[in-house]
Amino acid sequence: MAHDKKDIPKSYEPGQIESKWYQFWMERGYFTPKIDNSKKPFVVIMPPPNVTGELHLGTAFTAIIEDTMVRWHRMKGEPTLWLPGSDHAGIAGQNVVEQLLAKEGLTRHDLGREKFLQRMWEWMNKYRGVIGEQHKKLGASCDWTRERFTMDPGPARAVRTTFVNLYNKGLIYRGERIINWCPRCATALSDLEVDHKEMQSHLYYVRYRLEEGKDQYITVATTRPETILGDTAVAVNPGDKRYTKLLGKKVILPAVGRVIPIIADEAVDPSFGTGAVKITPAHDPVDFEVAQRQNLPSVKILNLDATMNENAGPYKSQDRFACRKALLADLEKDGLLVKIEPHVHAVGHCQRCRTIVEPLVSKQWFVKIAPLAKPAIEAVVDGRIKIVPERFTKVYLNWMENIRDWCISRQLWWGHRIPVWYCKDCGELTVAIEDPSACGTCRSKNIVQDPDVLDTWFSSGLWPHSTLGWPDKTEDFKYFYPTAVMETGYDILFFWVARMIMMGLENTGTVPFRTVYLHGLIRDEKGDKMSKSRGNVVDPVKTIDKYGTDALRFALSTGNSPGNDMKLSPQKLEGSRNFVNKLWNAARFVITNLDSEELKIKSNALRTEDRWILSRLNHLITEVTELNEEFQFGEALRRIYDFLWTEYCDWYIEIAKIRLRTKDGKDSPLPVLVHVLETSLRLLHPFMPFITEELWQSLREHQPQGKPDSIMIAPYPVADTGAFDAEAEQEMESVFEIVRSVRNARVESNVDPGRFIKAFIVAGESRRALETHAEAITNLARVRPLTIVSSEQEVKLKRDQAKILVLKGVEVILPLEGMVDVDAERSRLLKEIEATQAEVSRIERLLSEDSFISKAPPAVVDKERLKLAERKDRLSRLNERLAQLG
Ligand SMILES: [Zn+2]
Ligand SMILES: [Zn+2]
Repeated sequence: MAHDKKDIPKSYEPGQIESKWYQFWMERGYFTPKIDNSKKPFVVIMPPPNVTGELHLGTAFTAIIEDTMVRWHRMKGEPTLWLPGSDHAGIAGQNVVEQLLAKEGLTRHDLGREKFLQRMWEWMNKYRGVIGEQHKKLGASCDWTRERFTMDPGPARAVRTTFVNLYNKGLIYRGERIINWCPRCATALSDLEVDHKEMQSHLYYVRYRLEEGKDQYITVATTRPETILGDTAVAVNPGDKRYTKLLGKKVILPAVGRVIPIIADEAVDPSFGTGAVKITPAHDPVDFEVAQRQNLPSVKILNLDATMNENAGPYKSQDRFACRKALLADLEKDGLLVKIEPHVHAVGHCQRCRTIVEPLVSKQWFVKIAPLAKPAIEAVVDGRIKIVPERFTKVYLNWMENIRDWCISRQLWWGHRIPVWYCKDCGELTVAIEDPSACGTCRSKNIVQDPDVLDTWFSSGLWPHSTLGWPDKTEDFKYFYPTAVMETGYDILFFWVARMIMMGLENTGTVPFRTVYLHGLIRDEKGDKMSKSRGNVVDPVKTIDKYGTDALRFALSTGNSPGNDMKLSPQKLEGSRNFVNKLWNAARFVITNLDSEELKIKSNALRTEDRWILSRLNHLITEVTELNEEFQFGEALRRIYDFLWTEYCDWYIEIAKIRLRTKDGKDSPLPVLVHVLETSLRLLHPFMPFITEELWQSLREHQPQGKPDSIMIAPYPVADTGAFDAEAEQEMESVFEIVRSVRNARVESNVDPGRFIKAFIVAGESRRALETHAEAITNLARVRPLTIVSSEQEVKLKRDQAKILVLKGVEVILPLEGMVDVDAERSRLLKEIEATQAEVSRIERLLSEDSFISKAPPAVVDKERLKLAERKDRLSRLNERLAQLG
């Protein structure tokens, strides 16, 4: 079946084309894999974006990398599942809606729990839809029929099942522990939710009077003087001789007058401050542990809104910082404030609202983490899970080996409510998957559920198995679990990846994924982090509207490597759009030239340039396949780009144009043009799905037989090593070097670009080969007449009236009478001699190194030897030319 010459629009309009193809793929159900037990599936679970607003660039970046990965595997014929979802985002989600309420002058307490949760759901449902639409714009080929939300009934039951199982195994407990408290958010925070920032602060030296003597004191240093009110001891290091005689004595606490002991504890650093420190068990994690060891009481002095409570005596009801000021004034008045020193130290801030957090003792739910961490460490050590890039393995292991129990209760309303009910009659707990109607111990109906919710990472930690149906043994769970790759930003390695490994192993006995692929952050062109306050945020949706999705995908993928941050600039986006246009124009040229002729490649009728481009194409396929397998998608894309831009467009198409103009019907370049284009489009499809589908469909229209309905289900190219052709590559390299050098020489001598100039090529042994490219060289370098000779004697010219280009094995002589500046020629040759000499020295040095000769593959060593011979030959000819100039 053949068509007449075809029309294709002059320029690429991404908007319409992109939505058209996404619709087409959706309708055909290509994103939904078929369970086929004879094949191993490829599964990626999408990191659920937080439903806290519109899609941001980091999420788009994640989606682009994952889409590339899954499209590639799908084209390789694997049943491929990419499961999308979103996260209720716990504290972050609640904050967004609380801020909206604040604009109406309301707090969540004004609404009450039930009404507030209603507002939360309205918000969530709206933005889940928005984020879904935005993923579609990105071309994300995820299976929307399996979309999940962390609060859906399935994942919710997984959360409760996990809680109950861990509780029954004694791995979840409720206890008084020091937690990080955000007074603004009014909730406990995990260690990871606290940002520690270096702050200019003060160290206050305060005297405590000894109970026995009127003028005897011990001086302690503190950064938080208001916590004096909660002290239950003063501690020194047992080895500190200065204080030996004071051990066991008592001091009177300033301001409140409580009597507390002086004790010895190993935890005290004798070099800090005076070597004597105050112990506040209720408000400091280190002091809390000291108190446990030493059996000290604990005195809470703060209310949960960070005002002082009744234990603060005269400072009751004051804000913590007002209290600090008032107390310091009183200490000064009483002569107890010795001195104040400037002091820089790390202060914990709430990651969500930036308020300074307060460590305080509180009754919370914890996961006993060591028994869960152990198998999670082993899974990475023994290689069941591989982390890419490898350097993060050490970071992971180091963190896991020092992990503390995980505080999982949050004093929020939005999230998975803790499945624990307290009996008001017998005081016992009932922990259950289904809401109980009565106390499990005494059957009383007088029970009330714990008001708190679970840390949002508790539910996202179950994500790879909860989304596939666990705790039920569903078909999906049996076939798709464990998943293949977990792709996410390195910034949530601990928050999320570590927890998924622990929970996955605990719940299913199997690792949740085989590979963890960590990508970096996107920064602006100067390398700064993108943030609203800097005003350098790039909105992915606006960028798509301006440049098209494929250009954005290209800009975010090319040159990017695992674990490294990348820069995005408007120039990069423009460059990406240029590539899209270049590809469009190249394909347009090919497609408009198609007519009824046979497009089968006749291997016995191939010209050298045909064999060259086919060889290059198949080398490219080999490289791209290897790079994709190593998760080097950015480098793979860069190679495809180089091939298409330079080898295919700039050389092959340009030569093909000449052949089509002078067509004799015998050896049309069209079969090769089409073959290389069609193959490259498939190679490029995972990276740039839309333009490749559009162009591929245009080619398919011309020759539909044997082709599937869409490029996205067409096979990924496999290299034909039989097409490798070193001879053709070498010959074409020589042609390109000639053309490039003549073009440079023309620019140097200011030759009008349109003008043809006379040229001689002294080709030696390559004469016959180069003669077959005379037409191409004439046209591409604009040289006419072109004379190709074997030896220099055949060229009769005054040497100082010609420009002589010394190239690999050949020389080009351009008789530019009247345009050659002898001095400039001399300095040009000297420069070339210098550069060539430097290269000769470099290669000689390399070849003299034993380590290189013994370690490098023989082919690499041979290549260097050949290069050396060639450079030496060129060097001697350059010197000859210089001598001729006189
Ligand atoms: Zn906060
Ligand atoms: Zn009871």
